[in-house]
Amino acid sequence: MPKIPVKVVTWADIVRLSDELAEKIKVSYSPDVIIAVARGGLVPARLLADALGVVDVLSLKVEHWVVTASHTPEARIKYPYKVDLSDKKVLIVDDITDTGDSLILTSKFVTENFSPKVLRTATLQHIASSSKYQPDFFAQIITEWAWFMYPWNYWEDEINLVRKLLEERKGVKVSELERDFEESYGVRPPISLNKIEDEMRRRRLI
Ligand code: ADP
Repeated sequence: MPKIPVKVVTWADIVRLSDELAEKIKVSYSPDVIIAVARGGLVPARLLADALGVVDVLSLKVEHWVVTASHTPEARIKYPYKVDLSDKKVLIVDDITDTGDSLILTSKFVTENFSPKVLRTATLQHIASSSKYQPDFFAQIITEWAWFMYPWNYWEDEINLVRKLLEERKGVKVSELERDFEESYGVRPPISLNKIEDEMRRRRLI
């Protein structure tokens, strides 16, 4: 069975982390514009915009793709555009820095194409052990790598985690994987496996 350390993050955790992040930012920075890294940064960016009183919220879609033959996932901006932010203080927001690639790429893209007066970055969580980039602001530092199941990603994550189990346990019904799920990932599935099974069928994954 695959062993992956997984942590389930609740909506209450997200509200608390966003509040803590907003408090840290307020001490030294007042952005005019927030740029959410889609999709992970969308919810945190909206919550920060409310806490900081920011009306202008933009987004950039970062895509992770596998470069042919190299098998290394590479990040790129999927729908690039240009806008003049030369008189604006800008804050780029994402959910987590894991490799750091998304924020490195987004910062470079924003600097080159939006020309912000000032640019800062923020994430809810920062995995210090794996990321080659440290955001200017983060609510929580993580020292041991884990996969964080954010509440806006429960369906996608749970389906992916179940698919890994199915690779090993061919022929087993998804609804019977409760124990395997807990043993492999160390958490109980946040969405019932009956519902996941129905959804996987609807998506024609099983
Ligand atoms: P980074 O944002 O540090 O460049 P990646 O490029 O590896 O991280 O991942 C891009 C996105 O994938 C993140 O913004 C986040 O939404 C998701 N992600 C990556 N690592 C994790 C993790 N350990 N737990 C939860 N989500 C993650």
